Amino acid sequence: MAKDLSETGETAIVHEFGEGDLIGGHPVLDFINTLIRWGSPEPLDRLDGYISLAQWSVVAGVMEPALADIVAMKASLEPDDAVVALENARALRGILHHVLAAHAQGGEPAYDDMEAFEAFWKQAIGAHRLAFTDDHIEIRPVAFTSLTIIADLITRDAVDLVKTLPDRRLRLCANDACGWLYLVKSARAKQRYCGGRVCLNKR
Ligand SMILES: [Zn+2]
Repeated sequence: MAKDLSETGETAIVHEFGEGDLIGGHPVLDFINTLIRWGSPEPLDRLDGYISLAQWSVVAGVMEPALADIVAMKASLEPDDAVVALENARALRGILHHVLAAHAQGGEPAYDDMEAFEAFWKQAIGAHRLAFTDDHIEIRPVAFTSLTIIADLITRDAVDLVKTLPDRRLRLCANDACGWLYLVKSARAKQRYCGGRVCLNKR
């Protein structure tokens, strides 16, 4: 089943996310990889609605199931806000792909992309608080208030990833049409293709 996303030109497909979709080695990379065929004129989007985004966030370990249930209920009560929040998450996904694909290729991300990433980061900070627990300070999401919470959690994880990204372990699939990103075990690893089931090159 597919439907046209007239605003983006992409096609959304119904997809039940499972462990087999987590091939990137990091939730942020798996989030980027929810779009199939980045380099194709006709990419396919596995996020076919806000509920799909919430389901992915639980499978990927980005959000607790109890919070996801609350978020999904709010989305069903506020469908217009859910559409806006989904578009916001898709925009974040595009920015992260630009930034991290440049990184994987040893290049510098575009200024506009870094500026947009920073804007998401500043919003995400506002959705978190510092909590003291078990003798240490933790960064936790604030009590749920907005459907942008999933994008906020992904952004927080994305900033953590780029701060700690190991040298030359982030790879961009050598299949230009695919465009998926993944971590390899060492800088010397020779894996050139993502290995995703939907990637034509599985070598
Ligand atoms: Zn691939």
